[in-house]
Amino acid sequence: MLYQKSAGYAGEIRVDKYLESIEFPEPVKILTDVELSINPKSAIQIDTLILTRSYAFILEIKNIAGTLIYIPNPPHFVRIHENKKTIVIDCPIMQLENNKTTLDIWLERNKFPMRSTGMIVMANGKTDVQDAPADMPIIYGKHLPLHFRKMEPEKPLLTKQQFYELCDKLQQDQQRYNPFPLCEKNGINPAQLRKGIICNDCSVNLIRANHQRWTCPACKKKFKQPYHDGLQDWFMLIKNNISNEECRDFFQMKDKYAANYILNQFPSKLKREGKAKATIYKWDYKQPPANKIKRSTSKT
Ligand SMILES: [Zn+2]
Repeated sequence: MLYQKSAGYAGEIRVDKYLESIEFPEPVKILTDVELSINPKSAIQIDTLILTRSYAFILEIKNIAGTLIYIPNPPHFVRIHENKKTIVIDCPIMQLENNKTTLDIWLERNKFPMRSTGMIVMANGKTDVQDAPADMPIIYGKHLPLHFRKMEPEKPLLTKQQFYELCDKLQQDQQRYNPFPLCEKNGINPAQLRKGIICNDCSVNLIRANHQRWTCPACKKKFKQPYHDGLQDWFMLIKNNISNEECRDFFQMKDKYAANYILNQFPSKLKREGKAKATIYKWDYKQPPANKIKRSTSKT
């Protein structure tokens, strides 16, 4: 699973490189990992979205090694790699169609006179795709520059103002849908965050009064479970998972047993992944970790 994720990521990076060499009609905006929701129960993720005044072009990027054989009815691909047969469950064409439909509904609701288009992109130039229907929009990443160069210049559908409104609106929606982790999305260096356990109000480090109680040296407020707030801060600010070692460092704790205790006591369930030293505790960003952040950077 982890391998699949990193392969997907490598694929996106490789495709980004091809995109950089393309001269799109100006103005152009290229967004990656666009998450869109048109109802509270479902959301889509678009790998790469290219916006110009003439088109909203979705790239559904696949980085798959080996041979892919298309099987119709129901449409899916079978992948053969190193003589082993595995079924690729997510049919990329279904994913692409679903993403196009969702984006079109979003565009219509927001009154932008444009509909989406898109292609499945094979990031790996060695992937052998067999039996794909002739009308399936599928392309190798390395052929993207040629594809876009050959695309007829279309009459702009959006005015310049509408184009910039579209970019802003999409980015605003992203922020609303998933603002976490805040450091990465707001260009804050996590190394600058104050470590240890701190007061919600004063942002100064708490002092341990006794086994169960911490106090703030500034406002004298008492705390019973300051680690809960601290972990929420971590998930909101830094990333969606934490290891025992990271927990120790973040709270400036002495031993792994204390960190273990805190991680297992966290009131909302954290998903445990990995074993022994490699265990990480994961937060699912579908739920915001908390309403408010307590931590400031040490510079302030
Ligand atoms: Zn205080």
